[in-house]
Amino acid sequence: MTWAYWRVPPFVTSIFFILGVLTLYWVLFNWITAFFHAHHINIDDDVVNSWHGVLYMLVFVFSLQTLIVGQSDSWQFMNFQLIALIFCGYFLNIHIPYYFLFPVVLVYMVFNQSITYWESWGYAITMVALFWTMNYIRIHFQGKAHAWIYYLCAGIPYGGVLWLWMKVKFSLDWNTFWQEWVYLVIFEILLYAYVSMLTRDSEFKLRLAQFASHDALTQTENFAAYTGEIKYLFEDSSKNNLKLSMMMFDIDHFKHVNDTYGHLAGDRVLQHVTDVVQTVIDANDEKVTLYRTGGEEFNILFPGYDLASTETIVRQIFLALNHLGVNFGNQQIPITISVGVSALSKEDATPIDFYNRVDQNLYHSKRNGRMQITTD
Ligand code: GH3
Ligand code: MG
Ligand code: MG
Repeated sequence: MTWAYWRVPPFVTSIFFILGVLTLYWVLFNWITAFFHAHHINIDDDVVNSWHGVLYMLVFVFSLQTLIVGQSDSWQFMNFQLIALIFCGYFLNIHIPYYFLFPVVLVYMVFNQSITYWESWGYAITMVALFWTMNYIRIHFQGKAHAWIYYLCAGIPYGGVLWLWMKVKFSLDWNTFWQEWVYLVIFEILLYAYVSMLTRDSEFKLRLAQFASHDALTQTENFAAYTGEIKYLFEDSSKNNLKLSMMMFDIDHFKHVNDTYGHLAGDRVLQHVTDVVQTVIDANDEKVTLYRTGGEEFNILFPGYDLASTETIVRQIFLALNHLGVNFGNQQIPITISVGVSALSKEDATPIDFYNRVDQNLYHSKRNGRMQITTD
């Protein structure tokens, strides 16, 4: 087999062509989202998925058509283009209404020199209807058992109608019609199976990432997440002269809670504490983040805050925790916390220097009788 003499049948080549197009889509998507996350660019992965998907598929559809535009066999790439449309309509979580497709289709028809053909108009309207149907099925049936049956029940007949338009326009024989329709159905099945596999794989990776950065008991971010974030915030704040402050707190005599009420009660206290703190944070500023950095030790990072602006939230947390007993069975477990707070200073050479100062303030609170806040 050489460049000039390619013995792999076209059908097999096209299968790998489609798989390649989808794989490249996925690799690019993962690269873009990883880039955004690493640079703290706050764009929802779903939004990236929609826009990246639409742009990628538009480039794909138009660049393929450039190769054959105006020729008598300009229907050659139709199955690939339909697969791209079905991919956007069914698999991308697109929040774009179907009528946005009309201008795209019009541009395509002008580009393809087919705007004067009535069959092409029939084809275009059927295609928009296919996109709408795929979107509808995704919204109502995706994730349900036998979702693939609904998907195929729409994909197969629409494919037949679309090829019928092309049969009339290009006077294709019935053989070509049936063959192309069957190819389309095979591609649709392939698309479904392959994208489901890729989605499962990325969901699995997402779960692993969630597991690695979150604490299983309280679902708050863990020490590993804290380490990554303080490193980023320390560098960013030092370089750009931004404010940053930190609060650390530790539950007082927690060993006593475990010893008196049992370990399960201790776990419940930890969950309750994180719920309360998270509620206070949510009511103030979602940029503020809580981390469980030790057993009953927590850290809160306040990007953009100086000591004075931190104090309001620190006080709210302190009051909320010290005045709420935790219900466990028919018992009320009273808890108190000791707190240390500090803001980033120019003398801090590393994140550890900053951390140590907050830690010393926390232990000052402990040594001085607990249930208090020490700020420098
Ligand atoms: P202090 O006021 O000085 O902080 O006293 P303390 O008893 O809170 O501190 P100490 O460090 O002696 O005890 C911490 C206890 O927290 C010991 C450990 O068993 C308990 N602990 C750590 N993680 C968990 C957990 O996930 N669940 C439960 N129930 N207990 C935990
Ligand atoms: Mg403690
Ligand atoms: Mg402790």
